[in-house]
Amino acid sequence: MPLKELNYWYTTTSFPTLDGTRAVPEVVDVAVIGAGFTGLSAARTLAKRGARVAVLESETIGWGASSRNGGMVLTGMKLGVNQLVSRYGRERTQRMYAASLASIDCVEQIVREEAVECDFSRCGHLEVACKQKHFDDYARQADVIAREFGHRLRVVQKQDLSSEIGSNIYYGGMVDEVSAGCNPARYVAGLAQGAIKAGAEIFEHAHVESVQRDSRQGELGWKLTTSRGPLWAHEVFVGTSGYTGKATPSLQKKLIPIGSFIITTEVLPEKLARELSPCNRMIYDSKNFLYYYRLTPDRRMLFGGRAAFFPESDQTVRQSAEILRRGMIDVYPQLSDAEIDYVWGGTLDFAFDIMPHAGQMDGMYYAVGYAGHGVAMATFQGQKIAELMAGDQPENPFVGIPFPGAPLGLYNGKPWFLPLAGAWYKFLDWVS
Ligand SMILES: Cc1cc2nc3c(=O)[nH]c(=O)nc-3n(C[C@H](O)[C@H](O)[C@H](O)COP(=O)(O)OP(=O)(O)OC[C@H]3O[C@@H](n4cnc5c(N)ncnc54)[C@H](O)[C@@H]3O)c2cc1C
Repeated sequence: MPLKELNYWYTTTSFPTLDGTRAVPEVVDVAVIGAGFTGLSAARTLAKRGARVAVLESETIGWGASSRNGGMVLTGMKLGVNQLVSRYGRERTQRMYAASLASIDCVEQIVREEAVECDFSRCGHLEVACKQKHFDDYARQADVIAREFGHRLRVVQKQDLSSEIGSNIYYGGMVDEVSAGCNPARYVAGLAQGAIKAGAEIFEHAHVESVQRDSRQGELGWKLTTSRGPLWAHEVFVGTSGYTGKATPSLQKKLIPIGSFIITTEVLPEKLARELSPCNRMIYDSKNFLYYYRLTPDRRMLFGGRAAFFPESDQTVRQSAEILRRGMIDVYPQLSDAEIDYVWGGTLDFAFDIMPHAGQMDGMYYAVGYAGHGVAMATFQGQKIAELMAGDQPENPFVGIPFPGAPLGLYNGKPWFLPLAGAWYKFLDWVS
């Protein structure tokens, strides 16, 4: 089959069909911007609590990172625990780690409640060490995580690694059995269906152009201008992640959009697939410029990485296919003859401190900054911020932490420094 520049997950999924001619309502309780995991999870929770909710999406359900990712439902955060403890202290880091575990339960519960057929499975994840010193650090990390968070990870020595991965380029690994895998496009489609069932209305091709403070019949709220007409909302929730734009400029300035790219091979023979990943784990390596990979439920190797730092475009997607194919063969020489069937890219959102952030900004609610760890955390944050909006006081250790902008404020939402950052991370991988 010739290589297709297409998201493979899309070929496995049918999305809810919506009436594209329906006008957006005049007034709602909550306008949710973005129909990815964050926005849809918030919409589902708010609608279940009786709110009138309109989800406004520039493109189609799940069009952003939520349908394009690796489907790795991971414990922990992008930053290592030692860095978290030194930045936020023991107590808050313990709560953050607990939230990362709860976020996987949250996905599992939604999948069960909404009967989403997305191949959710607690298959665990494997992190593999690209250098001896990275491996030496695994034992230290596993100790801290067991002692401080009561969570067990298993360190795998190089000589035992063949039970976990059919590659001999790594110095050892670390397994977390609690992480899961899923088909993300099917999951986001199921989440949308769940939001609709709860009473939320979703409007595709409804790009939010501006959001302004406005009062109506003596009540303070928001006037939204969208490509499908105006709308007035008591509250606004923003879940636009790496695609955050001009409609919410303060948030846009706090986020760096970074491209990530994925290839999938043809369907592999069962024996070869089992050799590559005997326990069917979600796998990623220890570099800054990392590779992440897994088998799909139909036994393709899905191999992703930050092949280019810039967000996806025809050019970056095309270049990534060959860069990632070479990376995949470095890891798995067994795949040197495997056809690459699909390549695609998507945009992640990094905050300047590489942390998730949620709460209120300029009076609007938001949750962003998942840094490639968003399948579980975006679902969780959408739900928790919705509970906050509904008047609860949910446990959420990410609310209220400092949310830094660019150093010296030298950033207007256009990431001119990405080539420098890309070079810097490559340099760090070389020296550290
Ligand atoms: C290639 C890739 C691989 C990844 N792999 C993993 C992984 O394996 N595991 C993991 O945990 N995370 C992974 N991630 C990250 C994860 O996918 C994201 O963190 C998560 O999907 C974010 O969800 P979201 O709903 O916040 O944003 P998105 O899914 O990006 O949705 C935001 C939506 O907002 C819409 N929007 C933006 N502006 C407006 C506007 N003005 N008006 C209306 N709509 C608007 C966009 O069209 C978009 O659909 C990956 C990401 C990428 C790109």
